[in-house]
Amino acid sequence: MAQDHDHGGDEEHGSELSEMQLRVRALETVLAEKGYVDPAALDVMIEAFETKIGPHIGARVVAKAWSDPAFKEALIADATQAVQTLGLINRVGDHLIAVENTPTLHNMIVCTLCSCYPWEVLGLPPVWYKSAPYRSRAVSDPRGVLADFGLTLPGETQIRVWDSTAETRFIVLPMRPAGTEGWGEDKLAALVTRDSMIGTGLPKDPKAVG
Ligand code: FE
Repeated sequence: MAQDHDHGGDEEHGSELSEMQLRVRALETVLAEKGYVDPAALDVMIEAFETKIGPHIGARVVAKAWSDPAFKEALIADATQAVQTLGLINRVGDHLIAVENTPTLHNMIVCTLCSCYPWEVLGLPPVWYKSAPYRSRAVSDPRGVLADFGLTLPGETQIRVWDSTAETRFIVLPMRPAGTEGWGEDKLAALVTRDSMIGTGLPKDPKAVG
């Protein structure tokens, strides 16, 4: 795992590993010693999360849906199955539902109980997703939460909040930005941010990217 001390906050530990990394190592050692986990299998999983599984998968799904009306229809009908057909990941283990943003409806996902997250398409959840303030305020004051994320929607846009569970995960299908006519899927995918698929953000401005 690459060490990165540029973000500050870790310096005071005076250690090469962050407190969280040390805790993970300690837990890994105990579990391996007790025979609960195979360290090699764990390495494969960690490597997958670091390099293979991430929001770039979800971005491909969204770009495909923006480009291919038949795929979009299939995605809305059964996201688990539709994502499976793209062959980007081995298997979608959980029931995945894609919720589509429109000019009058903005979708946002949360797990009020804990941190259920569509990890197969978005990778590991951001820290704030698991925080108590996000989990409670996303439901009680979604517009306020979006404002905190710098996102102000028109007053007439309805906000719908979806509560994830261990069995059902959601991915937001954001609206395709105007000014992307004729763009290929690769270029479109570069506009799709993780937060736009959680509903706390919008895709990037094509003028800033293209
Ligand atoms: Fe949860």
